[in-house]
Amino acid sequence: MYVSMKEMLQKANKENYAVMAINCFNLETARAVIKAAELEEAPIIINIFQEHFEKHSDSELITPIVKRLAERASIEVALNFDHGQDTNLLKKAIQDGFSSIMVDASRFDLDGNIKVTREMVEYASQYGVSVEGEIGCLGGSEGRMFTKDSMYTNPLEAKRFVEETGVDALAISIGTSHGNYPEGMVPEFDFERLKEIKSLTGIPLVLHGGSGSGEYNIKKSVELGINKINVGCDFFNACTASIKEQLKENSDINFFTLMHQMEEESIEKVRYYIRLSKSNQKSTKLAVLNH
Ligand SMILES: [Zn+2]
Repeated sequence: MYVSMKEMLQKANKENYAVMAINCFNLETARAVIKAAELEEAPIIINIFQEHFEKHSDSELITPIVKRLAERASIEVALNFDHGQDTNLLKKAIQDGFSSIMVDASRFDLDGNIKVTREMVEYASQYGVSVEGEIGCLGGSEGRMFTKDSMYTNPLEAKRFVEETGVDALAISIGTSHGNYPEGMVPEFDFERLKEIKSLTGIPLVLHGGSGSGEYNIKKSVELGINKINVGCDFFNACTASIKEQLKENSDINFFTLMHQMEEESIEKVRYYIRLSKSNQKSTKLAVLNH
């Protein structure tokens, strides 16, 4: 079933779990992620990063693929524009049928961020499309590192942002960074800040840069009110690891087998995160009941 993130995340908020949002960019990655969600009976979000639109599959190409996969699936699937900075591209994705968008206007000051995000909320609402906003610096994709306390989300600013923009979900910065961490490093999360933001806003909160965060941090974040977790690197790393291993075993392997096996093997990593975020068996199974 093809849905927006809105109801999906409201249910997660009410029942205290997080829906996984996995970065995909083609048929193979989207199909693997949806298959994993079906096996775990979990709702799932397909995240498409802006750079991947521009360099690989634009919204005209990727939307019908994901929509068709979603319609065939026994669980709820949302298609989300991850880190949309270009409002023209965001509007185009909505017109092409995206069910959800994330507006990344965190490079502006608070007033500017609110203005851009609110405009996109108004535009998206005409199409029934849900909107995630971002406040605070998430590191990595914004070209900065998160190490300074000032880059974490300010709870009072978060409250104002939510009230004035009307977003359905809010991405916050409590210690994660995008990309791979140096080997052996596990980030330290500011759980007190998370608690405060949750109590002031009450809306579904989003953790970006979930890859490599460690089991304790993920579990505790979900307990304290994170309702969507973005994972890109760990999924892509699983795909790369499968390809490496296959080539090591047989350097003459044919391309079809290589891709097919990669798709099959990458499913396990997604299943791991679904169970960790406690969204397994949380699908409403409406699609099955309606058939
Ligand atoms: Zn992100």
